[in-house]
Amino acid sequence: MSDFETYTCEHCGEPFRAHPSANAAENGYCSPACETAGKEL
Ligand SMILES: [Zn+2]
Repeated sequence: MSDFETYTCEHCGEPFRAHPSANAAENGYCSPACETAGKEL
């Protein structure tokens, strides 16, 4: 049951693992901090 996939954070460029159905996968950010920073452009 390993449905996690590797994504690259849109903000810091770090690879991170998330479930495809998770918000992180949809948003493309590894953490809430990166999501906030990425959207403040
Ligand atoms: Zn990040």
